[in-house]
Amino acid sequence: MILPIVAYGSPVLKKKAVEISKDYPNLEELIDNMFETMYNANGVGLAAPQIGLSIRLFVIDAKPFSQDESLTESEVKELQDFKRVFINPKIIEEKGVEWDFNEGCLSIPDVHEDIFRKPEIKIEYQDQNFDTKIETLSGLPARVVQHEYDHIEGVLFTDRISNLKKRLIKSRLTNITKGNIDVGYKMKYPLAKKNR
Ligand SMILES: [Zn+2]
Repeated sequence: MILPIVAYGSPVLKKKAVEISKDYPNLEELIDNMFETMYNANGVGLAAPQIGLSIRLFVIDAKPFSQDESLTESEVKELQDFKRVFINPKIIEEKGVEWDFNEGCLSIPDVHEDIFRKPEIKIEYQDQNFDTKIETLSGLPARVVQHEYDHIEGVLFTDRISNLKKRLIKSRLTNITKGNIDVGYKMKYPLAKKNR
């Protein structure tokens, strides 16, 4: 089932999300719905707060990034296979020299900004079977995880841009909050007169 994605300005996007246990109700169905919602919106990642649930869960499928022709064969392979469910994740380590990448977000349609983050992370999490995993990631897989991880910490990529840039996109952000935008997927706007 495709779920509505909550838009910029919704309080749930600013909240630090809570951990969940194995008995979280209908978890399997929720994960399926999150993947379906993400694919429908052509996203590479979706965090639970973006569908209105303040829990520490996000899904990723980085396959669309593997199309880039400048990638090496091993990078292509890695991105094609980078489909994961992250439950109760904890970034243990972030290192390297920060690099910029043009990020976007399904909750902030049509806004893209260059964001600086460290290139390498080590993350501990539970997968969909609640098996504990530790992974070291770099490049784009790390980048997507960092963006989604921010969501469960109540942080958006627009919180990581300069005040000047933020002022430049302020009216666009206000329009998103009010629902004065055209999006190819279902959204829920905090200040819309009527949700479409
Ligand atoms: Zn996002």
